[in-house]
Amino acid sequence: MTVATAPDILRSAGLTAVVEDTWNLTPLGEFPAAAPVIVWHHDASPVGPSPGALDWIKNAYRAQDPSAQFWVDTAGVWHCIGKGLAWHAGKVLPGMPGNHQAVGIETDHTVGEEWPDELLDSLRKGTAALLKEWGHSPQQGLWFHKQICDPPGRKSDPDGLDIDQERDAVQRLMFPPVVSPSTPSSPSTDPTAPEADVTPDQIKSAVVAALASPSGQQAIKVAVDARLEAQFGNAEDPKSLLNRGFGRRVRAEVRAALRDFLGGKK
Ligand SMILES: [Zn+2]
Repeated sequence: MTVATAPDILRSAGLTAVVEDTWNLTPLGEFPAAAPVIVWHHDASPVGPSPGALDWIKNAYRAQDPSAQFWVDTAGVWHCIGKGLAWHAGKVLPGMPGNHQAVGIETDHTVGEEWPDELLDSLRKGTAALLKEWGHSPQQGLWFHKQICDPPGRKSDPDGLDIDQERDAVQRLMFPPVVSPSTPSSPSTDPTAPEADVTPDQIKSAVVAALASPSGQQAIKVAVDARLEAQFGNAEDPKSLLNRGFGRRVRAEVRAALRDFLGGKK
């Protein structure tokens, strides 16, 4: 776990990572932390693609001037500038991560500019992949320059983003929410509506997903909920459906599907 493996981590996440000719240089020395946290920046270059910013940041890295380890362009391509220490944070508030704890990710962006989807998607995905590898939650691992700088207000980057929203977005990428494999064939919240067809395959996949869930003892309950959701959509509380008498037959169906599934595995 070092900064040096970052290009491989980014590529494994399906991103394009260009290793610049400055990547292996360490003008300020090696990056001291094995598992860095991450600070997002913007480079304040003109609106739109500013490819010239890449040379600027590479030259600054070589010259031990303020720079960063990464630069993400408007197309979402990660440019790996340097694996060593870089001055990107400046003075930070007490307790906030500084240059020796955090790598800096610069972005081709400026105040008031709309974030291109390609850039923001790639920034989130790459951040998720790096934090996962380095063992940090987004809560402890992702920071904004404008959030950590001392004095507060000294920096405005990354402009236009909200730290809580971005941590949530990165969290969802690191740990995607479990999606019910069942799809409602006729979503309805009207309990008097005629029962929709739910195929045996849908029930079986709900059971398989339930068995794979971390709490195995909850398998039947989860499968019943999934079965009810497949029929009624997720607007209905499974408990109220069970109370209205849907429970007995659904439980029997799920148990039968479970028996089939386990029988078929033998
Ligand atoms: Zn910054």
